[in-house]
Amino acid sequence: MYRTHNCGELRIENANSQVTLAGWVQTVRKFGAITFIDLRDRYGITQLLLGEELNYLLDENPLGREYVIQVTGTAQERTNKNPNIPTGDIEIHVQSYTILNKSAVPPFTITDETDGGDDLRMKYRYLDLRRNAVKKNLELRYAVNRSARNYLHENSFMDIETPFLIKSTPEGARDFVVPSRMNPGQFYALPQSPQTFKQLLMVSGYDRYYQIVKCFRDEDLRADRQPEFTQIDCEMSFVEQEDIINMFEGLVRRIFKDVKDIDYTEVISRMTWEDAMWQYGNDKPDIRFGMQILNLKSAFNRNNQIEATGELINGAGFGVFDNAETVLAIAVPGCSEYTRKQTDELTEWVKRPQIGMQGLVFIKCNADGTYKSSVDKFYSEDKLKAIATAAGAKAGDLVLILAGREERTRKATSELRLEMGKRLGLRKENEFKLLWVMDFPLFEYAEEENRWVARHHPFTSPKPSDIATMINNNPVIDNPEKYLEHPYSNIKANAYDMVLNGNEIGGGSIRIFQRELQEKMFAALGMSTEEANHKFGFLLGAFEYGAPPHGGIAFGFDRLCSILGGSESIRDFIAFPKNNSGRDVMLDAPSEIDEKQFAELQIKLNLQ
Ligand code: ASP
Repeated sequence: MYRTHNCGELRIENANSQVTLAGWVQTVRKFGAITFIDLRDRYGITQLLLGEELNYLLDENPLGREYVIQVTGTAQERTNKNPNIPTGDIEIHVQSYTILNKSAVPPFTITDETDGGDDLRMKYRYLDLRRNAVKKNLELRYAVNRSARNYLHENSFMDIETPFLIKSTPEGARDFVVPSRMNPGQFYALPQSPQTFKQLLMVSGYDRYYQIVKCFRDEDLRADRQPEFTQIDCEMSFVEQEDIINMFEGLVRRIFKDVKDIDYTEVISRMTWEDAMWQYGNDKPDIRFGMQILNLKSAFNRNNQIEATGELINGAGFGVFDNAETVLAIAVPGCSEYTRKQTDELTEWVKRPQIGMQGLVFIKCNADGTYKSSVDKFYSEDKLKAIATAAGAKAGDLVLILAGREERTRKATSELRLEMGKRLGLRKENEFKLLWVMDFPLFEYAEEENRWVARHHPFTSPKPSDIATMINNNPVIDNPEKYLEHPYSNIKANAYDMVLNGNEIGGGSIRIFQRELQEKMFAALGMSTEEANHKFGFLLGAFEYGAPPHGGIAFGFDRLCSILGGSESIRDFIAFPKNNSGRDVMLDAPSEIDEKQFAELQIKLNLQ
């Protein structure tokens, strides 16, 4: 037996007992003739005391950081207790030790505050994983996994594996492809999600399916994406949107309880996609704080209450507002006393290429009831007051206004809102706000191709009330400039996203389950009948054999863990992640393969 106890286990009650421990040497400290060692394993740290009588052994077999040793001794009450660790009341008075394996000097310290930079820690990920901070993240991940499995199991969901070597499943990204040696010239695709399989399982009668499963998407890696990531993937038959929502609110509440001991009992609010875009400028609003976006341009104003505001900003001779497609404002609470330096800095912030605005207009709503702005030349104080009031500002607030092209300005205002929320400490790490965003448009217009693309994926059903619009209208877009006037622009999807603190943590939809409608969908996306049959004949065929009504959802497991763990990075919650260029720097993958492998695959490289 290598050990009687682990390194996190011994307490004062164990004092005077004989124990054997095994683990890694975290630190060696010499105090005169005595040596103290912190011995570490997955469960914790135990202090070892090696008395003078062992010095000969230490001289013969010196110990270094990360050596793996086995020690035998007695647990003793410590005179200097360490209240910071659970084993801090005792220490082991060592009688003998054995070096089980030596260690090279680790390239960084295996401590919470390590001196290792990102790259180094990725290269030696197996050492990084020894650190407590990383271990805690993996433990949290496992807790989320267990909680989800328990809940789903209790609700009759069945975990069914689906293949990785498949034919493309469209989720809007590029496929990773794998050449087939046995079928020269042919390729498998790795699944972007198990979407079509879970739908086929519904046709087969497995009415509640789930899988915690890897998905692969060959995307340009924007910040904090991984080419392979994990979903909690679920599907149910004989359900409507409301059934799915109830079931998966239950799942998320359960995870909160099990993992964070949080009773998330409050009603989970719902917002239409349109409202999310209007009020927050994006489809995954962080509702931990207000600061909603208001449109100051009447032409774009949906909100009857401030209909007249456009007149307030138009025609004052301020060309930036007059000529802008849209003018959007947020009222930042309590910031009317911003100095020139601060407003200049904010202006620079919105001008950064990532935000891409030309400038920033502000109105200070001073506590004494006066108004000051960067456009005083054009607007009287009364007008400024009216604008600020329309934007929802109170005395003491700072109104920030951006103007320009609709899409970019909306995005920029959304970013500015989030930035101000962060600066004001309104995005609290330990506050959790869930939200459903629903009624997404079914289609998006792809300008370059002048055709419709599925916003979610092509298996999502339109709202029942919009099915007729879809069937009775020709999808062809005659006038690309006016695509918004095409009836397809208004078709809403039976789709829903779950948003947590401004992150999409899950998304799904009620599916199309009749062959005709699915065919119509493929046609709407510009697929010929042959192409649709070639790509999705299996699904269309299955729909002819009694496909039940069904729908589902998939949660981004890595993201969910990172939010629950209070981190911005999903990488911290993945044992062996890839870096921002999709590389595994530890394995040094991707990498070249042998000539022989190419020959077997009958593939020739033709690098440009
Ligand atoms: N397959 C979808 C996705 O990966 C989720 C779903 O519709 O269930 O986003």
